[in-house]
Amino acid sequence: MTLVRTLAWFALAIAIMIGAVWLAERPGLVTIEWHGWRLDTSVGVVLVAFVLVGALVTGLYATWRWISAMPGLVFESWGEGKRRRGYRALTQGMVAVAAGDSAEAQKMARLAEKLLDEPPLTMLLSAQAAQLAGDKEAARRHFAAMLEDPRMSFLGLRGLLTQSLRDGDSTRALAYAERAFALRPDTPWVVRSLFDMQAHAGRWREAQETLRAGLKRRLVDPERGRILEAVLLVERSRAAERSGSDMDALDNARAAIGLAPERLAVAYRYGELLIKRGEPKKALKVVEKAWMAGPHPDLAQLYIAASGEKDPLKRVQALSRLTNLVPDDIDSRIAIARECLEANLWGEARRHLTAAASPRPTVRICRLMADLEETEHGDGEKVRQWLAKAAEAAPDRQWRCATCGTAHDRWRSVCESCGAFGTLQWTAPEPIVTGAGPVDETPRVIDVPAEILPPERPSARGA
Ligand SMILES: [Zn+2]
Repeated sequence: MTLVRTLAWFALAIAIMIGAVWLAERPGLVTIEWHGWRLDTSVGVVLVAFVLVGALVTGLYATWRWISAMPGLVFESWGEGKRRRGYRALTQGMVAVAAGDSAEAQKMARLAEKLLDEPPLTMLLSAQAAQLAGDKEAARRHFAAMLEDPRMSFLGLRGLLTQSLRDGDSTRALAYAERAFALRPDTPWVVRSLFDMQAHAGRWREAQETLRAGLKRRLVDPERGRILEAVLLVERSRAAERSGSDMDALDNARAAIGLAPERLAVAYRYGELLIKRGEPKKALKVVEKAWMAGPHPDLAQLYIAASGEKDPLKRVQALSRLTNLVPDDIDSRIAIARECLEANLWGEARRHLTAAASPRPTVRICRLMADLEETEHGDGEKVRQWLAKAAEAAPDRQWRCATCGTAHDRWRSVCESCGAFGTLQWTAPEPIVTGAGPVDETPRVIDVPAEILPPERPSARGA
């Protein structure tokens, strides 16, 4: 570059020199006459004068250009400063939101809105600042405004969804979740919260569709998905029976058992429908299979019903075929002991209860022992002793929610306390040493990000 420039200057100097020599060799005069004026001069001077005038005009033009560009430059740098201040306000506002400083957040949001012409960015800050200040109406307005902008609509939906959940408005929350799902069906939290809300609302069929969409997109673990679908089918079967369609009820229960034959609630549903339909032998097989996976008092009653026995001794005989499949489990011992008490088989009842009471009796065992002492010997002192023991006995297996720990008197698909779907387990708070241990009835599938769900309804984990 430098070399080229040097060569150019060199060529120019040579050209000027040649020109000067050419002029010196050809002297001449120029005479100008104008309105009585006369100017005599040489050709060289005229040429120099031309060059000087040209340089002057060029200089003046450049100066004019510079001056005329000034206001633009000034405005531009002023606009730049405004934007910079806007971004600073935005950043400070976001920091204030993160720090929980609602007054500062709102102040900065207003400033950023004034300085910046970037609605998507400032809308989000304004919505968050309003949320932080507890101004629900303003937050809703800002989130709703975000729906207008295609770049922001998904974020706006998320904000509105969170807000509706906090307000306990599950109908509206479900509608927003459906819109969010239509917009981005591949987003894990969308699929999870939509599934939870549909299940919570008892819209089993739609929940099943959402679950399948999640499985197809690999957002749900296949093993958990299998259990969840079986639980949904149990609910669909119940709904069909309530609406008088026994055929649909059976079809759904059969589909459920095809997916999860080991699940207690699934086996119970199919078993009771088989008995209703007059197929008790099939019901016995279904209950036996489930019993091996996890015994439960309801299954014992269903088994006796399927056996059709009315005589107490025959009932004991029938039930022992089931309990002998897992003889040492505490629920096998308790189930058979209950039937022995009904049949006045005191020795057998005592044998099972004593075995189940080791190493530490549970509440159910203590109460049954009290019954036994009462009916066998009428021993008031021993009855009192067992009832006193019951007060401080080990806790029993119960239907407990794996998410919130709440105990339920019977199985249900949705936890009454936290609203989670499919989280109930037949289990004790502490593992019971006797037998096969707690039955895991929990398919934990759905982890909803904490920020999506309000603290009082921690959620849908699990469905
Ligand atoms: Zn719960």
